[in-house]
Amino acid sequence: GAAKLSPLKQMYKEATEFYHHILMTTKIGQRARDYAAKRQLNEDLLQHFNIGYAPNNENILLTYLRQQGYENKLLEESGLFVKSQQGELFDRFRDRLMFPLADEGGYTVGFSGRRISDDPEVAKYMNSPETEIFNKSKLLFHFFEAKKAARSENRLILYEGYMDVIAAYRAGIKSGVASMGTSLTEDQVYMLRRITPNIIINYDGDNPGVHAAERATKLFDKVPGFNLGIVVLPDNLDPDEYVKKYGVERYQGEIAGALAPLEFLLKRLASKYNLQNDREKLAYINEAIKLIAQVNDPVANDLYIEKLAKQTSATRESLKASLLREQRRLRQVQRHKTVVSKANNSDPPQIDLAP
Ligand code: ATP
Ligand code: MN
Ligand code: MN
Ligand code: MN
Repeated sequence: GAAKLSPLKQMYKEATEFYHHILMTTKIGQRARDYAAKRQLNEDLLQHFNIGYAPNNENILLTYLRQQGYENKLLEESGLFVKSQQGELFDRFRDRLMFPLADEGGYTVGFSGRRISDDPEVAKYMNSPETEIFNKSKLLFHFFEAKKAARSENRLILYEGYMDVIAAYRAGIKSGVASMGTSLTEDQVYMLRRITPNIIINYDGDNPGVHAAERATKLFDKVPGFNLGIVVLPDNLDPDEYVKKYGVERYQGEIAGALAPLEFLLKRLASKYNLQNDREKLAYINEAIKLIAQVNDPVANDLYIEKLAKQTSATRESLKASLLREQRRLRQVQRHKTVVSKANNSDPPQIDLAP
């Protein structure tokens, strides 16, 4: 039989089923079903992601869970309710499409609710607060399902938003995951590493998305053994919007065209400088050499020196000389670090005080 769930997880399981039931079958769910249809969330997707609806009601979940026998203490700990100054509990999520957030065993430990009204005063997404069972820096949306799919797809794709993971699923990519609307954490990088070294980052094509992709690329770089690809979508589109606009096939093409990390970082770097200006061009070359030098692969080094030469009309010879100097400097820094760490690990030097 199934392992007995902790009371909190059991409560979240019942809340998930309750919200899902409201979305799929009730009259008050109609508004949310209309919204879901508008977002191309078909029945299969609603089932697979166990999506629900929290109606515009101040205590429908509270009443239901109390009927199931849950006591105030646990209801308060769950984060599903807010407490008034009079000490009364009210449903936290109202008039929102509910995305269950599952732990590694596939059990709901939190929710993210998407506003379905177009009221800009209301926050677009709202997450459960952190609890004993929900730590958003250690959770990835859809990870439980994606790790199974990653075995056959032999890679895993990292998205910015829940709707992007769902759009990818609609496009036949079942190994999508997303962080909780926050920057990627080191814990999440290690979670991914356990599943596969082959990771594709496909954040939104807008400025914040590309910046976040740059930060994520540098974070992955700290953990050895990844084979990373980065996809930057055109026209500020996010993956959900892209699939809607251009279709599945073209989206698959974008994924196949993922950039190598160095290629992506060099492109980003170049976009920050005006290469018509000599001072900026020299600063760009200097920074580009630093990036290229970090890669310990002579073939990759040659390839990017060649590109840099074409782009800046500096000579290959001078660029190579700079690269060698930078690599020598890096080795020296590395050696110095090793010496210092050895010195710190050994006994303090014995000073002979004898006359
Ligand atoms: P949608 O397509 O429904 O508008 P999105 O995923 O495209 O959603 P973005 O604005 O691109 O939304 O934000 C990316 C992610 O950031 C969201 O999926 C969500 O996790 C998080 N997020 C966005 N807005 C908020 C908010 N107001 N509060 C909390 N998290 C948010
Ligand atoms: Mn965005
Ligand atoms: Mn987006
Ligand atoms: Mn979107």
